[in-house]
Amino acid sequence: MLREKCAYCGDITDMPFECNYCKDPFCSEHRLPEDHRCVKLSQIRAKRFGEKGKVIRDGGTGRKNAFRKMLGRFG
Ligand SMILES: [Zn+2]
Ligand SMILES: [Zn+2]
Repeated sequence: MLREKCAYCGDITDMPFECNYCKDPFCSEHRLPEDHRCVKLSQIRAKRFGEKGKVIRDGGTGRKNAFRKMLGRFG
């Protein structure tokens, strides 16, 4: 019978969840990287934040600058 302890809280669970990132076994409460303070969490966050931030930044400032230039020329 396969029984493993949650690597975060130590609870014994019959159906452990394996983290995709650190490969440790966790209970259903702590299976998400955010919930067991995954050692890879900083890397996961950096990747997510980087992709999101880039999109917002490019869309925002690019438009404003073009609009300002037009106003300056006609004003
Ligand atoms: Zn747990
Ligand atoms: Zn993990």
